Amino acid sequence: MKNFIQLNKNDVRKRFNFLCKIEEIKQTSGPTIFTINDGSRSIKSVAFSNKPGTRAYPELNSEDIIEISAMVSERDGIIELELKDVKLVTDDFKKKLFIGQLNAILDKESTADDVEFIVESEPIKKLLPHIKKVASEIKKAILTNRPIILRHHADCDGYCAGIALERAILPLIKKRHETDSAEWFYYKRAPSKAPFYEYTDVVKDLSFTIDDMNKFGQKAPLIILADNGSTHEDLLAIKKIKIYGAKVVVIDHHFPGKVENGKVEVDKYVDAHVNPYLIGFDSTLTAGVLGTEIARFINKDVDGIKHLAALAAVGDRAKGPIIEKYLDIAHKIGLDDKYLAELAECIDFESYYIRFMESRGLVNDLLGSDVEKQRQMVKLMIEDINQRKETVLKATSHYMKRDDSGKYTIITLQADGVTSRGEYPAIGKTVGMTHDYVISKNNGKGVISIGIGPDFMTLRMSDEVDFNINTIIEELKEKMPYTAVDGGGHEHAGSIKFLEAGSQEIKEFVMNRLKNL
Ligand code: MN
Repeated sequence: MKNFIQLNKNDVRKRFNFLCKIEEIKQTSGPTIFTINDGSRSIKSVAFSNKPGTRAYPELNSEDIIEISAMVSERDGIIELELKDVKLVTDDFKKKLFIGQLNAILDKESTADDVEFIVESEPIKKLLPHIKKVASEIKKAILTNRPIILRHHADCDGYCAGIALERAILPLIKKRHETDSAEWFYYKRAPSKAPFYEYTDVVKDLSFTIDDMNKFGQKAPLIILADNGSTHEDLLAIKKIKIYGAKVVVIDHHFPGKVENGKVEVDKYVDAHVNPYLIGFDSTLTAGVLGTEIARFINKDVDGIKHLAALAAVGDRAKGPIIEKYLDIAHKIGLDDKYLAELAECIDFESYYIRFMESRGLVNDLLGSDVEKQRQMVKLMIEDINQRKETVLKATSHYMKRDDSGKYTIITLQADGVTSRGEYPAIGKTVGMTHDYVISKNNGKGVISIGIGPDFMTLRMSDEVDFNINTIIEELKEKMPYTAVDGGGHEHAGSIKFLEAGSQEIKEFVMNRLKNL
């Protein structure tokens, strides 16, 4: 008696009996392919019906437990089976016992890898149980052929988180399926324009998902939300995809609302959640920092990611002693502060034009899989970006309104007045650039910058400002419920959305509130 993992070339043409579970069934134009698992590993087995292209054993379904007699064969150097006789196991006790064994094996194999943190800090140590849970859910998805959709915010931090995780996940998918094409079939990455899982995103994901489930018999996916996923605004999309049996894990550092007993609102619906606010910390550990750390718990052999934590931190302007240590690591491999800042800008620039595409190759090159191309691209793009920045600052410093009557300097910009439609930088980035520029000339007085659109505001606050943007959103919700106000983000960088009819009233309230801090 052998199990799947013990089969080798000497067994070709020999016949064996196995007890196993059907993981996947695929119909080709020839035989039917059953992917089966006996607990030692999964293996492809082919079965022929009377007519090519028609289902063999049409009575069998995924998840069924079967007893088989099969002949070992070899195809392109890979050991396969040819099904000769199949019996569905109906004995309940036998079935339950075997499923129990399979689950125990799966739990063991999907345990997070045993690694140290790249930078060990108090908050990351406290997050360890959350990190292990996320890593193990991801490993489990790979081991059970559950497709993965990685959704990340389309900024430098979100891209760093996404790519760090991708570099850990793809080799495991290839190993699991023994083919290069599996990394396209079982994995997709998709940037999200908003810093949360938008309804348009989930509709797109679900459309593909349901089609793939029907066409290829795929399982419902595991959705990984990176630099996204923790807030009230993510809830509708998360709840929607859960209806289809998807699993959802979240790696985020946005302000997730009130924490009670270490839990927040989305925790009721997601399968695992890493966010520094859950353990009483703040957004300093950015999604890219967290993603880089988590990647190694998924795959301890992951390569080429250690610089991504520093790059993410630079992109999201995270500072402090913990971040310094991540920066040191990047410095040691030849990325100095100036280059990191330029690269971060280039990624923001590129992501603006990539929009919702995956662009796996291009993004990978830009994030360092081809260092020579990366250097060339940064050199080319940064010149253009700097020119645009100059143009933007000339315009915004001319058209911005400045109010110094309160404790902090308040800068306001009319969004559609100072941006060019369809071109980088859009309003959020434009406010950011202007904000930094004003800070640099403000002799330490705190600065609040606001970009005002017809139905939104985007806000930035300097370190000196003692205020959380989410507070003002809560107040507006209570005072003007008829304006449909919503929004969020970080304590010092976020946006407010509302109905255009309420814009005047909301603007007055916000200005008054901020002037009188
Ligand atoms: Mn971020």
